[in-house]
Amino acid sequence: VETVGILTSGGDAPGMNAAIRAVVRTARASGMKVKGIKRGYAGLLNNEIIDMDSRMVSEIARLGGTILFTARCKEFETREGQQKGAQILKDNGIDGLIVIGGDGSFRGAQKLSELGINTIGIPGTIDLDINCTDYTIGFDTAVNTAMSAIDKIKDTSTSHERCSIIEVMGRNAGYIALWCQMANGADGILIPERDAFNEQDLIDAIMHNRSKGKTHHVIINAEGVGHTNRLARRIEAATGIETRATVLGHIQRGGSPTARDRVMAATMGGYAIDLLHRGETNRVICYKDGKYVDFDIDEGLAMEKTIDEYQFLISRLMSVY
Ligand code: ATP
Repeated sequence: VETVGILTSGGDAPGMNAAIRAVVRTARASGMKVKGIKRGYAGLLNNEIIDMDSRMVSEIARLGGTILFTARCKEFETREGQQKGAQILKDNGIDGLIVIGGDGSFRGAQKLSELGINTIGIPGTIDLDINCTDYTIGFDTAVNTAMSAIDKIKDTSTSHERCSIIEVMGRNAGYIALWCQMANGADGILIPERDAFNEQDLIDAIMHNRSKGKTHHVIINAEGVGHTNRLARRIEAATGIETRATVLGHIQRGGSPTARDRVMAATMGGYAIDLLHRGETNRVICYKDGKYVDFDIDEGLAMEKTIDEYQFLISRLMSVY
């Protein structure tokens, strides 16, 4: 590979810039040129391609979001769109492509690999919902942001002796909720991986704890369970305790990345260049069992994972519900 393209695709995540920076800087060491493709596959199809050099990426590791912008693109899901994309890459002299994103973005990379472009995927999403890897860029920052926000809500909820139902992000996965439950403490969590939730038990637990003198209650609800406002109204009606719903929302996607996100992102960025340098294609970089590894994209997409049972068990033992 002589010229590497890099794009960010799907939902943005803090740490994507640190990965971009590492790609540009380590490519130079391998004698490769780097071109940035703006707005994911949508920008690729519009030929939004820029030259990138080391100076362009100085100081970006601490920035949230992605300097290359991100987008979703329906056209790229078609064969014609993919062929057009591969041709545009070739016309720009790009023979290797690094895609930072989630499963959908990797499917796109896999298609480009079939069309003769050497492609490497880097997992970037706050949701941690990419099955082949134990870590995704952005998760640590998102959890820390949610944790700080929940701490603040707890302050006011305690002063007013309220119950708070707080919805955290995570798409169809409960990782952020589970981590916040352990980091913040909460009376209970609702996550999509566990449907054993019995609302009456939760209400009974809140009433029992209130009678014992507990002055505030926090329930963390995962985005994948949803209906946070309705749940708050039902709990207020059943317990008589003033109950407020807060949906944390996109605040969790922004902010300066934590050291962990910056370092993991940088390592994965450098690893991607290393793989392209060795002539590899259709690989996704993962962090598994404490090691950086890579899998064939198709193999990676077929893997399964779920929340850590042991961690979940301990979180349940710590909560009142
Ligand atoms: P996130 O989980 O953060 O949203 P993602 O990468 O899973 O990230 P998607 O919206 O699923 O996000 O995919 C991003 C883009 O990847 C799509 O807009 C589309 O252009 C491309 N893509 C998705 N699925 C395919 C597919 N099967 N074939 C080709 N391209 C695809």
